[in-house]
Amino acid sequence: MEKPFEDFGILVFGEKEMKERLPKPVYEAWKKTVANEESLERTTADAIAHAMKRWAMENGATHFTHWFQPLTGGTAEKHDAFIEPDSQGDPISRFSGKMLIKGEPDASSFPSGGLRATFEARGYTYWDVTSPVFIREEVLCIPTIFVSYNGEALDRKEPLLKSLDALSKAATRVVNLLGDKDVRSCNISVGLEQEYFLVDKKYFDQRLDLRLCGRTLFGTAATKGQELSDHYFGAIPTRVKAFMKDVNEQLWKLGIFAKTEHNEAAPAQFELAPIFTTGNMAVDQNQLTMDILRKTAERHGFACLLHEKPFYGINGSGKHNNYSIITDDGQNLFDPGKKPAENIRFLTFMCAFIEAVDNYALLLRLSASSAGNDHRLGAHEAPPAIISIYLGSYIEDILFSLYQDHPSIRKDASTVDFTPLTNLAYIPHDNADRNRTSPLAFTGNKFEFRMLGSSMSASFSNTVLNAIMAESLNGIAKQLEGIKYLQDVREKALNICRQMIHDHKRILFSGDGYSEEWVKEAERRGLPNVTSYIEATQVLKDPKVIHLFTSLGIYSEVELEANRRIMEEQYDRVMDIEVKTLIEMTRKDVLPAMTAELKFYSETAAAAGSACPAFVTKRMNQLSELIDKSYAYVDRMTQLWKDANSCGNDYECGKKIYYSVLPAMEELRALIDRYEEIASRSFYKLPLYEDMIFNLD
Ligand code: ADP
Ligand code: MG
Repeated sequence: MEKPFEDFGILVFGEKEMKERLPKPVYEAWKKTVANEESLERTTADAIAHAMKRWAMENGATHFTHWFQPLTGGTAEKHDAFIEPDSQGDPISRFSGKMLIKGEPDASSFPSGGLRATFEARGYTYWDVTSPVFIREEVLCIPTIFVSYNGEALDRKEPLLKSLDALSKAATRVVNLLGDKDVRSCNISVGLEQEYFLVDKKYFDQRLDLRLCGRTLFGTAATKGQELSDHYFGAIPTRVKAFMKDVNEQLWKLGIFAKTEHNEAAPAQFELAPIFTTGNMAVDQNQLTMDILRKTAERHGFACLLHEKPFYGINGSGKHNNYSIITDDGQNLFDPGKKPAENIRFLTFMCAFIEAVDNYALLLRLSASSAGNDHRLGAHEAPPAIISIYLGSYIEDILFSLYQDHPSIRKDASTVDFTPLTNLAYIPHDNADRNRTSPLAFTGNKFEFRMLGSSMSASFSNTVLNAIMAESLNGIAKQLEGIKYLQDVREKALNICRQMIHDHKRILFSGDGYSEEWVKEAERRGLPNVTSYIEATQVLKDPKVIHLFTSLGIYSEVELEANRRIMEEQYDRVMDIEVKTLIEMTRKDVLPAMTAELKFYSETAAAAGSACPAFVTKRMNQLSELIDKSYAYVDRMTQLWKDANSCGNDYECGKKIYYSVLPAMEELRALIDRYEEIASRSFYKLPLYEDMIFNLD
């Protein structure tokens, strides 16, 4: 490979490296394990471990770690050196198959949602053979799943792998039934676009809210907001450019195809998109990317904010989850082909998706939610908390032409002549960009799920997409099985599609998803609109959802309960930190500044006597009022917070936080923001929005 890509993948022990360094039978055995055809023998594991260790040490690694993803949403690792004493006490390097395959981190410091209380304190990590090992900072990182002593998942990777398996089986079943018998398995392709903010480290350090909560708890939108839209796709500041170069080089070395980078809509906001890869790898790579963004930012004197809403009044950050299903011979099942209207397989997969999303809209919404994302979904900015699908008029017309007696859903249905469409060649990426307000848009040959929060792991959202698709596809397969002639199978498939559109067309929406009218329209259609994350968590109690996951072998009922409890607990914890931080900053940074400023004006007034300017008197009154109110609000918030915490269970507590504490926080914020507007820099020392978001050059 030519410069600057000559180092691409050098820090990954990938397939090429395996092939070169492993004896052929070992390599073949590993391939079969990855393809899920055979389990790994001890001797094979030892041989792989040995080759891996040599490669790792040649590349400077001294330690290895089982890299896993606990339910907190981040990643965790415990390092062990390769070094050990031999029988004479001399150092030797050692890394066995057992060390590669299985680890036993102390699980007690990770959330288990009650799984450990009822079972065992131990947790185990097991090598995930489908995601390659890599080196970071002299450590050989082995992607692993994390399970309890009794095998319950303590992470989000194991369920993801199970969901991939369920989806592969279901999709293959349908593809085979529709005539393509060569396909033996399917996988998903996922491309995760990552949005983030950069702020200068010196400002970051001065703000407790940024440091502890990742977002500003108050602050007024700078005089120059994003109204001018001049940041989007604008020139990237030099310092940021250097940062991006550094990030890209690290990602490339790790075999991640970092591809697109640009300024995002808000000032100081950026996006990084890699080229899509298989689902499990895409999720792992995104976790790594977030970590690298954070650490590299520090080296460049920045702080990288992955929070969904770091600044009020300008756009927040999301993570777009581009999703498609690919057969083992490389066919994209969402690819409409040249004649989508005649492409029964395409239509079947589209309809399965529509049914799946309509059946499990709330679950999908939950999979994209977090305390931080509450500030985006259905709040200050869209995408809304309501799930709907945007197909683009071209595909929508084709689907509705299957099912014509319901034109009401499309305003312009009467003006569309369906017949000629079958003769049109497919126009690539038609409509791909037309509707940015949809949470779930079909963009040419994939679905783009735009709800996911920027700081979140993408494993649960993909697990949910896989599970709901698998269930729909299995439902279709059941109806197609046993039909003798392919022509009849295809006819039946079309009928199933018709029925599915009839039953689930309410989930299709091509209008402005950000508008008030849509909220009302969605309500008429009976679509769920749960605005809070905490309330959305309760969908995991829904018998339909429990059945979905248990019947596909993805989550047990116990695991679902544990996951729900962790979500509730996490919400309360995040909010706990936010409330305390807001109180602390109000007491230590804001009230003293207000008081000092009041003193200044009072002294000025006293000195001026009867000649006191009106402005000074006005400021004194304003400041007195703000001080009294802010002080009262701190008390009020503290009281509400105590009330919420006396609920006794995390869910009730979370709901009280959402409905009473959060509004109080907003009101206090409004007071502080009013102060910021009039505050003098000589008294008010906290960095302002204009410092933080217009200062990257
Ligand atoms: P946009 O900003 O318009 O959404 P980008 O190019 O920034 O477009 O991102 C699109 C993402 O979708 C990239 O990560 C890309 O690799 C990914 N992608 C493209 N085709 C597929 C596909 N078939 N399946 C999954 N992801 C895909
Ligand atoms: Mg996108």
